[in-house]
Amino acid sequence: MLVNEEIKLDYSDVLIRPKRSTMSSRGEVNLERTHNFLWSKKKWTGIPIMSSNMDTVGTPAMHKVLSKYKLITCPAKHHLKKDQDKFKKGKTNICWFGGIDDINNLAKATSGFIGLDVANGYTIKFVDAVKKLRDKCPDATIAAGNVVTADMTQELILAGADIVKVGIGPGSVCTTRIKTGIGYPQLSAVIECADAAHGLDAHIIADGGCVNSGDIVKAFAAGADFVMLGGMLAGHDECDGEVKNGVMKFYGMASESAMNRHGNHNAYRGAEGKTVEVEYRGKADDTIKDILSGIRSACTYVGATRLKTLSKCTTFVRVNSTHNTIFGKE
Ligand code: 5GP
Repeated sequence: MLVNEEIKLDYSDVLIRPKRSTMSSRGEVNLERTHNFLWSKKKWTGIPIMSSNMDTVGTPAMHKVLSKYKLITCPAKHHLKKDQDKFKKGKTNICWFGGIDDINNLAKATSGFIGLDVANGYTIKFVDAVKKLRDKCPDATIAAGNVVTADMTQELILAGADIVKVGIGPGSVCTTRIKTGIGYPQLSAVIECADAAHGLDAHIIADGGCVNSGDIVKAFAAGADFVMLGGMLAGHDECDGEVKNGVMKFYGMASESAMNRHGNHNAYRGAEGKTVEVEYRGKADDTIKDILSGIRSACTYVGATRLKTLSKCTTFVRVNSTHNTIFGKE
């Protein structure tokens, strides 16, 4: 048994130091990025934020709003099998995710990127599935995950992934760390996996753990090429679910609620996700504008005229906790 004594960090363990800037307004910041993918040889341009492929937020209505801002939607898995047509708008701003059993359906997806998404991306079976998907779809932009370490990021890339999805345990409705003790602080996971991926000309998605726009900024600053959001997009008109007494249900894809909905109970598999009630927040449009404005503002603080240069302009400062004390009820 080994103990790694090196301190690993979460988003809340750091702040970004302001730096001299020549910019006079947030409007000067360009949040669009163009990514050229390693294996597919395809090019994508947009704002690299994506909705999580969860039942509640990976909806056609969310896609309509996100594509207006050139953000990406990852439809909830059940849409892959039967209603891809509902996600017609902004065809390039889609990433279809499925599990190992969905390879044939993924190969038939007619738009955007495709991806293999499992809770534990460390199995040989999963690496073989990525290879199989790459063999079937040589021209597709393929994402795969989730992992949290440089070695496995490289293995998935060498198996055929253009983009590796990073995050085990940071999700707002994830209980993996509590149930299994497995995980890795997300900021460090992003820094280490981005470094490994970029060395091979590949990309990463920072998946989970962002609770405000400052965290999204930190993920990009740490080297993320895309940031995936679940909880931050929950509770809106565009989500799947009803508003009752000012709250909406939001559940993990490995929660009891998801298992009941999709009937995928299994003797060996207990829930590793939970169901929570989130405050109803109206239109997703307002939240997205608020997020983009926060990122623009951060870029002006460090002198990054483009999101692309944010990481180069960043010096993280370790802090005890970034949570502000709130006086009174917001
Ligand atoms: P959030 O943005 O809400 O913090 O995190 C969203 C991410 O949490 C998803 O993209 C996915 O990777 C992860 N996730 C979603 N549902 C579950 C679940 O039931 N269990 C676990 N362990 N992770 C989940």
